[in-house]
Amino acid sequence: MNVMGKAVIMSDCPLPITDTEGLKAALQDANIPTLLMVYTTYSHDEEYLDSFAPYLRGIYTAEGPSSVPEEMAQDLRDRLFALLTSPTPPEERPIDTRLLRHMMGVSVGEEVPEAQVPVLYDQMGFERPIPRKDVPGRKMPQGVKVLIIGGGMTGIAAGIKLAEAGYDYTIIEKNKELGGTWLENTYPGVGLDTPSHFYSYSFELNPDWSTYHPKGPEIQEYLLSVADKYGIRGNVQFDTKVVECRWDDAKSVWHVTLQKGDGTTKTEDANAVILAHGVLNRWSMPNIPGLDTFKGPKMHSAGWDNSVDLKGKKVALIGTGASAAQIGPAIADDVESLVIFQRSKHWVLNNPDINTPVNEHIRFALKHIPHYKEWFRFRVYWFTGDGLYNNVKMEENWPTPDISISAQNHAAREYALWYINEKLKDRPDLVEKIVPDYPIFGKRIVLDAEGGWLDTLLKPNVTLDTDGIDHIEENAIVTKSGKRYEVDVIALATGFELSPALGPLEVYGRNGADLQEAWGTDDARSYLGVMAPAYPNFFMTLGPNSAPNHAAGVNMVLEAQIHYIIEALDRMVAEGGHAIEPTVEAYNEWNEKVEDQMQHMIWSHPKAKSYYLNSKGRNYVSCPFMLSEYWSWTRRPDEKALVVS
Ligand code: NAP
Repeated sequence: MNVMGKAVIMSDCPLPITDTEGLKAALQDANIPTLLMVYTTYSHDEEYLDSFAPYLRGIYTAEGPSSVPEEMAQDLRDRLFALLTSPTPPEERPIDTRLLRHMMGVSVGEEVPEAQVPVLYDQMGFERPIPRKDVPGRKMPQGVKVLIIGGGMTGIAAGIKLAEAGYDYTIIEKNKELGGTWLENTYPGVGLDTPSHFYSYSFELNPDWSTYHPKGPEIQEYLLSVADKYGIRGNVQFDTKVVECRWDDAKSVWHVTLQKGDGTTKTEDANAVILAHGVLNRWSMPNIPGLDTFKGPKMHSAGWDNSVDLKGKKVALIGTGASAAQIGPAIADDVESLVIFQRSKHWVLNNPDINTPVNEHIRFALKHIPHYKEWFRFRVYWFTGDGLYNNVKMEENWPTPDISISAQNHAAREYALWYINEKLKDRPDLVEKIVPDYPIFGKRIVLDAEGGWLDTLLKPNVTLDTDGIDHIEENAIVTKSGKRYEVDVIALATGFELSPALGPLEVYGRNGADLQEAWGTDDARSYLGVMAPAYPNFFMTLGPNSAPNHAAGVNMVLEAQIHYIIEALDRMVAEGGHAIEPTVEAYNEWNEKVEDQMQHMIWSHPKAKSYYLNSKGRNYVSCPFMLSEYWSWTRRPDEKALVVS
C-alpha cells in the first residue's frame, strides 16, 4: 500500500452491524467530524464532505459540542446507519493522497500540509503493513540475534517488529514482569497527559480505553495484552540486568554481561543491541539534610508503597511536577493534612478531558464502526502532536520575548493565566505562588481539570509551601523560614536522574571506545538519537535529542526508531555485512543541525530551566524538530550516513 498513490483503507470491523440499537446510540453520541470521515471513506462524496466544512473548526475537545446544525448531523447519522446495516456491505475503494488530505483538512477545520500526509497515514493505523518476512525480494536475516535491553513499551514493540522481520531476539528485563514505567509507577492517581486514543501502537489500536487520558493500570493492561497477543514472554529473561556490552571487532558481536536478581552473572553474545531501558526510571532522591533520619514511611512516586495507609495521616508531598499533580488530588481527601513543597513554579494548563470517561456508546463506535478509531486517532493526534510545535518555536522579532516566544505560545499563556486566575480568584496568594515568570512550555506543564491540582491547592487541609526546605527531622520538615511541619509520611515526587544517560551500564565499542567516557556525566550525543560512530550495531531508543518534548508522541518516536533500526539491520544483511554504524561526518552534521535548531526553541530561553538541560545549559534531551520531520528522516537510512562492514 502506498500513500503517495492510492490506498485501500481496510477496516477490521465486520459489516453489516447487527446490533442496530447499539449502533443508533453510538451514532448519536459519536464525534461528527469523525463520522463524516467514516462516511466519506465509503462514499468518496466530496460535495457532501465540503458541505460540513463551514461548521468544523480547529478546536479539539473529545466530545465537545458540535457546531454542525442538527439536521445535517442527523442526515449524516441516517446515511451511516443505512450503510453500516445494509445486508450488502459497501465496498472499500482506494483513496488517493489528494482525497485523503482533503478529508483530513475538513475533519480538523484547517489545511493539512502535504508533507504531513504520509506520517499521518502511517501513524493513524490505516495501514496494515505486510510483515517484513513476507516482503518479496527481501533478503531474510539468518541467525541474526538482537538483544533488547528493557521490556517496556519500546522493548515490547521492538520484539514484535524484529520477529516480524525474521530476527532472533531476546528481551532482558530487570523486573519480574513487562511494562517498564507502567509496571513500576503505581502511585495514587497515576496516569498520562497524552490522550488515550493516540497513546498506543499504531499497529494495535485499542478501542476500549475507559477515559480520554489513560490511567496507569489500564496502560499496563494494554501493554501486557499486546505482549501476550504477539507471544513476547517466551523471549524475555526477567529479573535480569545488563551490566556491560563489549564489542568484539574480530567476531563482530557484542559480548553482553547479564546479572540475575540473585547476583550471579553470565555472558551472552548478540549481533546487535537495542537500548530500550527508558529515560525516566532512575529515581532522583533529593539531597535534603536529615531525610535519612525521618522515622515514618517515605516513598518516591515511582516506588510507591501502596500498603501505607494514608487515611487520617499528615502527609508531605515534595515536588510540584506532573507526578505530584496527580498524587495530590488523589490523596488530599483521605489525609488529615497535606503540605506540598514547591521549589520552582510550573505552568498549569486546563485540559477538561483529562479525567473524562469514554461512554459506552462512544466505545461501541470505536469498536464496531469501521475506520472510526483510526479517524478519531487522527483527530486526537492533530491537536496534540505537531499542531503544538509553534508553542515551542521562537518567532523571529517576537515583540514580548521576556514572557512569550510566539503568537501560539502567547495565546497558550493567556489561556493558562485566565484559567489560573479564574480558579484561584479568591486566593491571590496562591496565584502569586504558582504563576511562573518564564514563558509557558519553558519546562513541562501541568495539565489540570475539575477536581485536579488547583482544586486541591484550594482545599482547607492543603498548604502550598514555597519557602524552601531547610532540613528534615524524625517527624517533621523544617523550612528555610523556620516553619516546622509535623508529618507522618513523606511522598517524594522529585523526578528522575537523567545523567549519566546510560545509568550504570558500561558500553565499550570498537577498540574499547568507552561510551560513558565519551558522553561524560551529561553530554550524550548521537546520530539521529539512535546510533553513534564506533559503536556498531548498538542502537538507542529515545536517545539524545530525540524526546518529543513539544507534544504527545513518545509512542510515535519509538515506532519510528524501531523502524529505522530494522531498516539499518536489513541493509547490513542485504549487503552481506556484519556491522553497521554512522560515519563521523553524519554524526557531526546531525549534531550541528540539532544545535542550530535548538537556538530557536523555547528551551534555550534564558528563563527556562528544566531537566532537559545539562550542567552547561545544553539541551541534550529534546528533539527540536517536528514529529513529522523526524518520522520522515527515519524511514530509510541515508545511503551515505551509514557504513556496512
Ligand atoms: P519532575 O517533572 O522532574 O518534577 C520533579 C519535581 O520535584 C519538581 O517540582 C522539582 O522542582 C521537585 N524537586 C526535585 N528535587 C527537589 C528537591 N531537592 N527539593 C524540592 N523539590 C524538588 O518529575 P515528575 O513529576 O516525576 O515527572 C517526570 C516526567 O515524567 C515528566 O516530565 C513527564 O514527562 C513524566 N510524567 C508524566 C505524567 C503525565 O503524563 N501526567 C505524570 C508523571 C510523570 P524543580 O521544578 O525546581 O526542579
